[in-house]
Amino acid sequence: MHPTTLFAVDALLTEEEREIRSAVRRVCDRELRPNLTTWFEEGRIPARELARRFGELGVLGMHLEGYGCAGLGAVSYGLACLELEAADSGLRSLVSVQGSLAMYAIWRYGSEEQKNEWLPAMAAGERIGCFGLTEPDFGSDPAGMRTSAKREGGDWVLNGTKMWITNGSVSDVAVVWAQTEEGIRGFLVPAGTPGFTATDLRHKVSLRASVTSELVLDSVRLPQEAVLPGALGLSGPLRCLNEARFGIVFGAMGAALDCLETAIAYAGEREVFGRPLASFQLTQDKLADMALELGKGLLLAVHLGRLKEAGTITPEQVSAGKLNNVREALEIARTCRTILGASGITLEYPVIRHAVNLESVLTYEGTSEIHALVLGKALTGHAAFA
Ligand SMILES: Cc1cc2nc3c(=O)[nH]c(=O)nc-3n(C[C@H](O)[C@H](O)[C@H](O)COP(=O)(O)OP(=O)(O)OC[C@H]3O[C@@H](n4cnc5c(N)ncnc54)[C@H](O)[C@@H]3O)c2cc1C
Repeated sequence: MHPTTLFAVDALLTEEEREIRSAVRRVCDRELRPNLTTWFEEGRIPARELARRFGELGVLGMHLEGYGCAGLGAVSYGLACLELEAADSGLRSLVSVQGSLAMYAIWRYGSEEQKNEWLPAMAAGERIGCFGLTEPDFGSDPAGMRTSAKREGGDWVLNGTKMWITNGSVSDVAVVWAQTEEGIRGFLVPAGTPGFTATDLRHKVSLRASVTSELVLDSVRLPQEAVLPGALGLSGPLRCLNEARFGIVFGAMGAALDCLETAIAYAGEREVFGRPLASFQLTQDKLADMALELGKGLLLAVHLGRLKEAGTITPEQVSAGKLNNVREALEIARTCRTILGASGITLEYPVIRHAVNLESVLTYEGTSEIHALVLGKALTGHAAFA
């Protein structure tokens, strides 16, 4: 029995949702998986090519309406994230940052001119975007950011550094959040603007099939039209993060599923002490526990997707989904790694790659500790962040 059959998750999906999932899975199997070991080992991806392919597939900003976006439901978007992350968290990150962070920020807070200029080309994957919130000294506490934007005549002048920015050096536009006299505001910074540089971070052990960069803004002069008019205050970027976190609720289960499928197949073939590893009770106990957590995580993801489609989902519910599903996916990846023994530490199998990738997923889009604090506040009424 396939692990997902146990919980009959497919019974909760429409035919269209299952077809979208199959279409994304086909592209992952045929075009992405064969290259992943090389991309991960070399720490390089053909980001432009991938973005165009994802654009053709229709997964960039697929849950947004209009401006060339597919306008599909939250569960369809989640299932696409699941399949992409079953291939690699780095590929899902490219799509999440493009669609749920950069495009969503423009779609939600941008002017009509900004939307028309950027969204259709970004949906097609012809242009890439990134989202610069985190700074070297401010990650979990973005309110403290030092990047500033000051008015000079009719222009804005930006100074500061953004750190750990996915898609940074391959982006055509960076959505940069900065302190202004009025509060935190978002700015669209086109690549090539004088004073703006993006440099890749090296020596990553996790999410190697993903571009991660530092953005430096050194007296970057932008016109008034570069401001996202609809966002003022930290709620602007936080709402974008909520979108991306939702995709992770599904995505993390994709990585876990790929690990579990690999471990079940391996345990069936590997003989120890004269019989298949899968026939030992300790192995079966591990597999049963993992199938339970995977099934519960998938059910939670679909449930949250339906709440999102109904427009009733709360940020706390997204935090619960992100905290639970990433934590359990990481645990599943680690346990699957033990089943593969020494083979579990090589890139010949996807398990260790998923395990190290999930370490990043546990940290970005709000660390597990921050999501625990969000839930703690919701449960007790006491904020324990500071
Ligand atoms: C691969 C990768 C890609 C990323 N992509 C992006 C991107 O595209 N755009 C972007 O803006 N950012 C991005 N990030 C940054 C990411 O969002 C931050 O790393 C994350 O928010 C945590 O910030 P930090 O690393 O500064 O850790 P810190 O905030 O310094 O936290 C360090 C530790 O302290 C804990 N901690 C913090 N506050 C509290 C508290 N109040 N109580 C208890 N414990 C606490 C944290 O949970 C963590 O365990 C990315 C990160 C990675 C690794």
